[in-house]
Parts: sequence; C-alpha cells; structure tokens
Amino acid sequence: MKYVGAHVSASGGVENAPGNAHEIGAKAFALFTKNQRQWFSNPLTEINIRLFKENCKKFGYDASHILPHDSYLINLGNPGKGPLEQSRKSFFDEMKRCELLGLKLLNFHPGAHLKLATEEESIALIGESINMALEKTKGVTAVIENTAGQGSAIGYKFEHLKQIIDLVDDKKRVGVCLDTCHTFTSGYDISTEKGYKETFNEFEKIVGFRYLRGIHLNDSKKALGSRVDRHESIGTGLIGEDCFKWIMNDSRFDNIPIILETPDETLWSKEISWLYSLVTRNA
Ligand code: MN
Ligand code: MN
Ligand code: ZN
Repeated sequence: MKYVGAHVSASGGVENAPGNAHEIGAKAFALFTKNQRQWFSNPLTEINIRLFKENCKKFGYDASHILPHDSYLINLGNPGKGPLEQSRKSFFDEMKRCELLGLKLLNFHPGAHLKLATEEESIALIGESINMALEKTKGVTAVIENTAGQGSAIGYKFEHLKQIIDLVDDKKRVGVCLDTCHTFTSGYDISTEKGYKETFNEFEKIVGFRYLRGIHLNDSKKALGSRVDRHESIGTGLIGEDCFKWIMNDSRFDNIPIILETPDETLWSKEISWLYSLVTRNA
C-alpha cells in the first residue's frame, strides 16, 4: 500500500496539519513542528498536543505515515563549536517536540562542513549529534535525508548515509529518507529504467531498504549531477513521469510516507490522485 501526501502547512498550530493533509486527499503528510527559519519556538502546549493527536485520529493518520522535518538552520556537521552546540540543542528540541506529539520520525538534512573540516570529520560530528539526541529522547527515529550536494553539504552519496548510520549506536532509531530530486541532481539517473534499477540496487547494497523510512517525491528543475536543489512539479521537470510510475509500482516503497515537496501547492491534490492512478500492481 502506498501512502502519498505532501509537506502541508502547520500555520496557526501543529494541530492544523492533519486537516490540511485531509483536504488534498493525502494518506501521509510532512510538517514543521515549529517555525523552520528559527532556532527555537514557543513550546507546544497541552492543547496543541491534544488537538494534534485528536485530528490525526479523526482523519486517519498513523504516526508511521507522518514525517516531520526539522529547521533549515540546524547543521549537525558544523565544525564550529558554538554553532554546533546550538544546532544540537535545537535538534534535541525538535526530537522532543516529535516525542510529545506521539510522532515516530524526524527527517533532517545531515549537515555541511562549510569547508572548515573534511567530509569525514563532519560525518563524525553528525553521528555523534544523533547519538546525543537519541540518548535524550524516546521513540523517535532520526531520519537522514540524502542531499543534492549543494555547497559543502554531506549526504550526496549513499556511502555518506551508510557512514553516518554506522556511527549511530541505536540502529533501530536511525533511518533514511530519499528525495528523488536530490537523488537525481546528486548524480543518480533515476529518469531511465536502467538507471532506476541500478540506483536502487546500489541503495540496497550500500544502505539497505530496511533503513528507508520515507520518500520525498519531487521532480527536478536542474540537470542530472548538477548538485543543485530546485524542486519541480511531478512530471514537468528533468526526471519526468516514468520514474514516478516505477516508484508507485515498486513494493520497496510500500508503507512509508511518500511526501511531495513540489513548488506549486495548488497542484498537490491533482498530483496525489495522478500518482495513485499510476498504480497497476495489486497491493
Ligand atoms: Mn529536506
Ligand atoms: Mn526533501
Ligand atoms: Zn530539496
């Protein structure tokens, strides 16, 4: 079974996200549990928490199909002592918010070395950061997203994801999220049938589908291997329709949140129903 949705607005309070997802016909959703451009936000109130849980129940969303995303400011691979500490505090707060909401996943970008350290050194900091956050929270899995590899970002190859996972003590609470746009622009050609097969065989070999906790479904404005992160609406970018057809009929992507982060949110409900119309396999 496929669980397709989008990264919906939580403006006015996290409790509004489930209704926003329901309105576009989503079976899964992503949200920010706080302002994504701030280090810290007001703590969640008991009312926020109660209403969020009630609305998830009302609209039929299970925590395993909800993929919260952390703040864009957090860089767990930052070699600078002060900024690293701030990132870790903020990340811990994000994990705690998920725990309070009864959520099981937190999706985040691994980090960037900012040319102040090697990739290996930055990866070591990311692993250590995850361990620290997991130690202080319960029940929430840290879900590392692959990246386009813009600037000095870590995560543009499957080996990076594997290296980070290897550093995490509690393997049950670490996972990955593959973003199709990032996968493509970091150099994996999922637009052709041959490339699709090779890419996901390689993912299985290096990381393993058992670690896959979510998918971000985006087409790309930028070319294969460009290492630039610009999302496009499904089927209208350089990845093209076929890849999404293959994903929707690939059982390796069953039962995980499949989240649109495409730029035109007025198209989300159309994109979701179009994606479901592609399913030919009985599941
Ligand atoms: Mn992301
Ligand atoms: Mn993404
Ligand atoms: Zn992106």
